[in-house]
Amino acid sequence: MARTVDVVVVGGGIIGVATARFLAEAGVSVELIERDGLASHASGRNQGLLIGPHPPEMTAIAARGVTLYRDLHERCDGAFFLDREPHGCLMVGGEAVLSAQELAEREPLLGPDITAASFEPDARRIDPGAAVAAMAAEARTYGATIRTGVSVRELLRRGETVTGVLTDDGPLSAASVVVAAGPWSWQVCRNTGFDVAVRGVRGWLVVTRPAPFRLRHAIEDASWAATKKGLTTPTVGDFAAGTLTPPAIAGLVQQDSAGRLLLGASLQSSSTDHAENQREAVAAVCRRAAELVPALRAVPVAELRTCRRPLSADGLPLHGPVPGSSGLILATGHGSQGITWGVGSGEAVAAGVLGQGWDRALLPDRYL
Ligand SMILES: Cc1cc2nc3c(=O)[nH]c(=O)nc-3n(C[C@H](O)[C@H](O)[C@H](O)COP(=O)(O)OP(=O)(O)OC[C@H]3O[C@@H](n4cnc5c(N)ncnc54)[C@H](O)[C@@H]3O)c2cc1C
Repeated sequence: MARTVDVVVVGGGIIGVATARFLAEAGVSVELIERDGLASHASGRNQGLLIGPHPPEMTAIAARGVTLYRDLHERCDGAFFLDREPHGCLMVGGEAVLSAQELAEREPLLGPDITAASFEPDARRIDPGAAVAAMAAEARTYGATIRTGVSVRELLRRGETVTGVLTDDGPLSAASVVVAAGPWSWQVCRNTGFDVAVRGVRGWLVVTRPAPFRLRHAIEDASWAATKKGLTTPTVGDFAAGTLTPPAIAGLVQQDSAGRLLLGASLQSSSTDHAENQREAVAAVCRRAAELVPALRAVPVAELRTCRRPLSADGLPLHGPVPGSSGLILATGHGSQGITWGVGSGEAVAAGVLGQGWDRALLPDRYL
């Protein structure tokens, strides 16, 4: 006979772990199933910035996220890195609101071609993988079961009602199943008749050894939002013709407290778990980073890193019931801001599961 819990959460990235934590705190019996390790994909391999701008639909969740991260940081005695006070970010290009002198004062190490920027004062740095681990620890203390190294292979269904999941360890019954499986969410839901409109967008990051200089703020190309909008999903014809779009680049340079730099990031629609286009993407990331901060050229590289963001067609996450399936809930599609929005999203999804309502703007049925 299948074991039974109130809620199964599929996926141990930031979204799944945050959702499980808030459900467990509310007294719900919850089991999270992660096929690899916690935060072993995008949630532990990203740039680690809490940053806007936010679409209006996500402003409240983003603001709530900062409070939740700060509270968690305090409760776990700083077990993960978080800027207690904002670090700030120079947004290069776009609307220039800083004078040349203000820009030079804000960041003396900027390259000579960087003459226009605005300042986003609220950006903060976070160690996302460690933050996920801290949240998972809290979830366990509230009674959640968190299992890693176990795959969810299929949804259990009676008619149109989802009654649990079939895992590598056998069936697990639940009144609700929350799918927070990032770019793989469509696979979990593949037999429901609803195609989850979230695709994987690969990013490459370069991590350096500690540099002999210190940047005052993060530095980001203001073109990020436009770059995301230009991404298209390749068709069979594109693969047949070998005409796949090369990686796009939106520069992002950030230095951690030990002096290491994280250089990002490429964006490319990616239909495979295998890391494609490393050479081309990393070269473009490094070229742009060296334009932003020329002193970077001499800094040794420690590691190349890649992962895929779960990006929806309209850039907003999908929070809520899967159309046509009762008991099945989606929590995915957070794109390039899943760490910024993740903890607030987990709280909002948990509230939805508990019957406190969903934000209409984020419901998956907008894709019907
Ligand atoms: C290069 C790059 C830089 C980024 N930088 C930032 C940043 O600075 N700030 C920011 O806010 N966001 C950033 N992001 C975005 C952020 O990383 C993602 O939006 C976020 O991590 C997504 O979290 P998730 O939990 O939805 O997905 P994931 O982290 O992908 O987690 C999904 C999990 O589901 C598991 N899973 C899948 N299928 C199954 C199954 N069948 N059974 C069990 N488990 C399964 C996977 O193993 C995975 O661990 C960045 C992304 C990239 C690619």
